[in-house]
Amino acid sequence: MTTQDHCIIIGAGHGGVQAAASLRQEAYQGRITLISDEPDLPYHRPPLSKGFLKTPTAPVLELRNAEFYRENGIELICGARATAIEPKARTITLADGTRLAYTNLILATGSRARLPEIEGITLAGVLSLRSLADARCLNDALDGPKTVAIIGGGYIGLEIAHTLAGLGHAVIVIEAVPRLLARSVSPPMSDHILARSESAGIVFHVATRIAGLAGSNAKVTHVKLADGRTLPADIVILGTGALPNVELAAGAGLAVNNGIEIDSHMRSSDPAILAIGDCTNFHQFHVGRRLRLECVQNATDQARNAAKTLVGQPRPYRELPWFWSDQGDMKLQTAGLALDADRTMMTGSPEDNAFAIHHFRENKLIAVDTINRPADHMLARRLIGTRAAPSPEDVLAGPQRLKEMMKEAAS
Ligand code: FAD
Repeated sequence: MTTQDHCIIIGAGHGGVQAAASLRQEAYQGRITLISDEPDLPYHRPPLSKGFLKTPTAPVLELRNAEFYRENGIELICGARATAIEPKARTITLADGTRLAYTNLILATGSRARLPEIEGITLAGVLSLRSLADARCLNDALDGPKTVAIIGGGYIGLEIAHTLAGLGHAVIVIEAVPRLLARSVSPPMSDHILARSESAGIVFHVATRIAGLAGSNAKVTHVKLADGRTLPADIVILGTGALPNVELAAGAGLAVNNGIEIDSHMRSSDPAILAIGDCTNFHQFHVGRRLRLECVQNATDQARNAAKTLVGQPRPYRELPWFWSDQGDMKLQTAGLALDADRTMMTGSPEDNAFAIHHFRENKLIAVDTINRPADHMLARRLIGTRAAPSPEDVLAGPQRLKEMMKEAAS
């Protein structure tokens, strides 16, 4: 690592900005260039489906202020899209034709909304929410009481549903499978979220497929369901998941398979190119298999790990995933991944809108989903993956027992 080095980071979301900051914290001496295809200073993405829709005039929550980039010698180029990587020459090309040479490249290109292939998708009033530009567009469309149909009962769809219902809009959620958040949470949690969301005034159509969207004068007016029914809608929001932005990597010949394939030090199949965040596919230490995650924790922890790799202090990536989602009066928090769980156990009470679902594999705690139980969540984050390995009996014994186990495991 010398002052002659140049690290280029493509994508200035949660991962890219953290990578630049961590490189400086790790005393990286070289030049750092951070390239964003968005026009604004890099910002926090989670508020877009939460507070930003409630108070669109509130200032955007910047990840770092402008001085931060100046003071840390980070050249931030906004509104510039990287269009190609030439790995042999170690250069990248921007949309305006500029070529930049790198010694190391970090791809932090994130993900984009997955758009279902259905009739009517290009009608005006059909929106998705991924960027600040998307959120501004949605705010502009909400210029009076509207009927909003949200396609997809995942985290982002449900957050938007609660935010808009709270603002007085009529909200319908259409979900293809029989329960909400089916790939992320257990059935009792899905049931609770459905019941609580219905009592907030949101109307649900679960196990319901979409046939297409209909409109008049090029503007959406209805959602057509596969069973022949139609539902009126002034605005349709597509909450149908995300796709990793891998095209640059694939064009450069890097290994890509549902994300840019990286090793435990964030290196792609070209060791001079690292990748972090939503765009990556990696071997997840805690579940022992390759996967892709879409959460702030993973983007920022992988960024810290990439910085360590680039300053010559590599350490294997073993961080525990965690996630949060705010839906009306429910704060959902997840620690760990419940894949392969063979037993679940509830503590607390859904009636109080405050409970936890503990997931075990071979009698060891592997994940905890909570609603309005932040202390349980924090404890789970510190416990899971340590030698403490609590059993269902330990969890039932209460937090004091778990804290003691944590101390013993650390000693
Ligand atoms: P991103 O933050 O997506 O950043 C990637 C950046 O790269 C983007 O600015 C993109 O435009 C840019 N880019 C892509 N290609 C190029 C190119 N060729 N040239 C230049 N720039 C490029 N996570 C949570 O943990 N909790 C939440 O509550 C939560 N809520 C969310 C709510 C919403 C509405 C959304 C959209 C996401 C939410 N997430 C949440 C997910 C979280 O925001 C992402 O996991 C996180 O932003 C991933 O960070 P990243 O750096 O990998 O990608």
